[in-house]
Amino acid sequence: AHLDRMAAVDGDVHAFLHVNTDEALAAAAAVDARRAAGEELAELAGVPIAVKDIIVTKGQVTTAASKILENWVPPYDATLVTKLRAAGMPILGKTNLDEFAMGSSTEHSAYGATRNPWDLERIPGGSGGGSAAAVAAFEAPLAIGTDTGGSIRQPAAVTGTVGTKPTYGGVSRYGLIALASSLDQAGPVSRTVLDSALLHEVIGGHDPLDSTSLPDPATGYVAAARSRDLKGVRVGIVKELGGEGYQEGVRRSFEQSVALLQQAGAEVVEVSCPSFEYALAAYYLILPAEASSNLAKFDGMRFGLRVEPTDGPVTAERVMAATRGAGFGDEVKRRIILGTYALSAGYYDAYYGSAQKVRTLIQRDFAAAFARADVLVSPTAPTTAFKFGEKLDDPMAMYLNDVATIPANLAGIPGLSLPSGLSDDGLPVGFQVLAPAREDARLYRVGGVLE
Ligand code: GLN
Repeated sequence: AHLDRMAAVDGDVHAFLHVNTDEALAAAAAVDARRAAGEELAELAGVPIAVKDIIVTKGQVTTAASKILENWVPPYDATLVTKLRAAGMPILGKTNLDEFAMGSSTEHSAYGATRNPWDLERIPGGSGGGSAAAVAAFEAPLAIGTDTGGSIRQPAAVTGTVGTKPTYGGVSRYGLIALASSLDQAGPVSRTVLDSALLHEVIGGHDPLDSTSLPDPATGYVAAARSRDLKGVRVGIVKELGGEGYQEGVRRSFEQSVALLQQAGAEVVEVSCPSFEYALAAYYLILPAEASSNLAKFDGMRFGLRVEPTDGPVTAERVMAATRGAGFGDEVKRRIILGTYALSAGYYDAYYGSAQKVRTLIQRDFAAAFARADVLVSPTAPTTAFKFGEKLDDPMAMYLNDVATIPANLAGIPGLSLPSGLSDDGLPVGFQVLAPAREDARLYRVGGVLE
């Protein structure tokens, strides 16, 4: 049914970069056979899923939406993919994203943008616009995204879906093509909070192949999503996330959701996180710094594309320059240049060092806020889905879309975005819930009440 739906709508939506028809059908048939044989199966067995194309899948092309990895076939599965397969979940295909997950609109994909199913003239968010659009357009019931600065939550917000960024270390990063290793985290995209909780329990948990993986078992999320009780829960509204620069309709829908939480028994307080003012600036130094280092491996020799210079000698350095010049898009080049600059001798302390200090201040602000509240809430993004081209030539305007999502990545804490109705323009608005590290269950407890 999902493959049929894909055939009907993906020509317009373009959520998928690769569709694995034969493999998905074979996986589904295998589950049917096991069920017919009376085998006890995992709860999501047989439920198909779409996976963001920055996560490696053995034997299936994985491109990170970059020309530099065109036709690259990974020799292994990411740990989370191994878990999906073990749970009997057929993988429908790989979803579109901004190249190497750099962006907030999927317009930076080397293979063309994804369109928002709510309005095909508008962006589906980014970088995980493909995963969110696939779920919103009913092409897949579930999807996997990655969130380095908001790439699960912001696309969920602008497509009316649910997206969860787990606690850093909660889901293995083994097999994720790294953007910024200290910020990256994979997580669920779904249409309901309960579905996200179910999927989170499948993909989460300790992995010895990821040295930053937490020892925590991935349990308690489904029970929390089903609890429907907020008595005694203190909800903190973050003063700095929601004022100036936020659309009127976004603010109104946010207030309505807060009122619903109050009706369900939550106690609402206001908290202040003054250092958030510097979060975006710190993020756009730390992320390019780590990205420039992570992307150094795409040298024309080890993976994917190789371009040899046509003029002059074929040296390693010249192959590297020709390959990277041809293989990377403008936004990737911009961030590599920013990152190498920020890390260079003489600038390291002033830029990268200062950004790391800001990161500590943000963690302290969160710690103080969580002393007064069990969860924090804000709009997920300042606006609803914008039109194609609106921010493409203005990187700062594009970056500003992430103000509300970035602090969670800098602090390593979990966050969830769920739909909170429509704005004045008839487009979906996202409501963000944040919890302290390793308290992901609180996201599902609060989110479950709102659906
Ligand atoms: N939009 C943010 C950026 O461009 C977030 C990216 C992400 O989470 N992968 O960096």
